[in-house]
Formats: sequence, structure tokens, C-alpha cells
Amino acid sequence: MAKLAFLGLGQMGTPMANRLLDAGHDLTVWNRTSAKTKPLVDLGASAAETPAEAVAGADAAITMVATPEALEEVMFGAGGIVRGTSPGQYLIDMSTVGPDTIRSVAARLPDHVTFTDAPVRGSVPEATEGTLQIYVGGTDAAFEAVEPLLRALGTPRHVGPLGAGAATKLVINLTLGVVMTAAGEALALGEALGLGRPTLLDSLEGSPIGGIVRGKRANIESGSYPPSFQLRHALKDIRLVTDTAARSGEELALAAATRGWFERAAEAGYADRDFSAVVATILAAAPGRAGAS
Ligand code: NAP
Repeated sequence: MAKLAFLGLGQMGTPMANRLLDAGHDLTVWNRTSAKTKPLVDLGASAAETPAEAVAGADAAITMVATPEALEEVMFGAGGIVRGTSPGQYLIDMSTVGPDTIRSVAARLPDHVTFTDAPVRGSVPEATEGTLQIYVGGTDAAFEAVEPLLRALGTPRHVGPLGAGAATKLVINLTLGVVMTAAGEALALGEALGLGRPTLLDSLEGSPIGGIVRGKRANIESGSYPPSFQLRHALKDIRLVTDTAARSGEELALAAATRGWFERAAEAGYADRDFSAVVATILAAAPGRAGAS
């Protein structure tokens, strides 16, 4: 079993760290808000005061933080990871931060560490059950080294060189954002044409976007959107998609429209709710509705 560090104990990081502990690893955890380390410490993990302290002496360290800015802070800020590394360590970033951030971080890390990107598809249930899809970017040797450890969290796939995991994750989350907003627009159109919501949802469950409609139907019907994947992160991801695409000279019309809807939903106060709350914003914007904007 390995000596591991896990940094970032949010909705995803906490169950992932739990699984590594369950797998028998010697785990040190760190989180910006230190109180979140307590449940893991109660289960046998050690808590570190700083990212540097967490990675000191570890075979491998995993980061699972919110944004590119958060990763920057954890890597290079005061007490950051770079101050605690030693030769032969593996650093694995599993956050969704896009390939440009991954390459920028890699360029500033010491040569004695091996860095891989390994963002995930799946949400809190998959993180809890260890069934995440994990897209790994890095060399063949790096993948071989980190794969056994990542197996405790899900199914790792080697998708290309450093940054390829982060790129794959952006592609996946473009589709996620587009189908979620498509569900909202389909409902808005159906209701404008006089169709009832339950019948519409039944029909949409059998459509090409049936998966997301089934998964988020309870939220849409209850009008309550408890966060599994916070809308602020979906907005961060679609912004990463459009900004990264623009730098590659790609113009993505659906991504731009999706970004517009998520920006409106965040402005409407849904940033901390589940990303499916974009449906509520789309429905509220429909002409003739109370609260339409
Ligand atoms: P979350 O619950 O919001 O947790 C975010 C984590 O990042 C927390 O540990 C937070 O620390 C930390 N953080 C934020 N800003 C920071 C900073 N400036 N410095 C240091 N730490 C900082 O997010 P999550 O749902 O676990 O998601 C984590 C990552 O996985 C994100 O990139 C997200 O896009 C991606 N992801 C999420 C899901 C999902 O369904 N939730 C699925 C796939 C991928 P505090 O506790 O101190 O706030």
C-alpha cells in the first residue's frame, strides 16, 4: 500500500479520499477549510496544516479542487505543494481545470516529480462507489505507475500525453452542458405548445437526451435542486470550453449558447444549486411565465 496525500475535500474529494483509505493506503489529507478533514481523520487519515506538509514524504499526491485558480493556489501559493515535493513523487490532478492550466502547472513543477492529469466523469454517487470514469493524460510510464492507485476510484483510461485527460473532460462536459440546456429548451417549447410537464418528461425520457432527463427529473419536478454538481462548476467548465476553443480557433455555437444559459442561471441565484437548475432559468424565461426575465 502506498503513502498518499489527498488535497481538496469537497463533494467529490471527500468520498474519493474515503475510498483510498478503505483501500488500505496510508493517507494524509489537506483542505483549505480544515474542519472538513475531521471525518477522514476519525477514520484513520492524518491531517496536514499545508499542502507542502501533506505531500512531504508521499509516494503520490492527488489534487481535487474547484477551479484553475484553486489549483494554482494549492500548487504554488504559500505553503504550496511545490515546497514539499521530493524526487520520484507522482502528482495527479483530478480537478476539471482544462489542458492549458495543466500544461502551465507542469512547466513550473520541478523535474523530479511526474505530473499527470486525471479528471473524472461521474458525480458524487460514482465517487462514493468507486465507479468514476478517469481520463488520464501523461506518458505511458506515468500511466502505468498511477493506474493501480486510480483503480480504487474508478476506471482509468490513458487518453494521451499530459493535458489529454483535461482536454477529454472538456469535451465531455461540453456535451453535458448542451444536453442539460436542451432539456430545458425542449420543456419550454413543449409547454408553450400546450403539453403538460409530466407527459413531456415521459416523452423526453425516450428521446436522445433521455439519460439526463431521467437523472434530473426529480429535481425538475420538485423545483428543488440539491447540489450534486454545482452550477458554478458547470459554468466554470463551459467557460473553459469556449475559452479553450477560442484559443484553438474553434467557434462553437452550441457551447456559446449553453454558456449564456448557465451565466443567466448563476445571475438568477442558482450558482450553489445543482447544474440542472439551468432548466428553471430557461422555463422562467419563457414568454408569458410569471418571473420571466
Ligand atoms: P466542491 O464541493 O465545490 O469542492 C471544491 C474544493 O476545492 C473544496 O475542497 C474547496 O475547499 C477547494 N477550493 C476551492 N477554492 C480553493 C482555493 N482557492 N484554494 C484551495 N482550495 C480551494 O467541488 P466538487 O464538486 O468536489 O468538484 C471538485 C472538482 O471536480 C471541480 O473541478 C469540479 O468541476 C470537478 N467535478 C465535479 C463533479 C461533481 O459532480 N461534483 C463531477 C466531476 C468533476 P473549501 O472546502 O475550503 O471550500
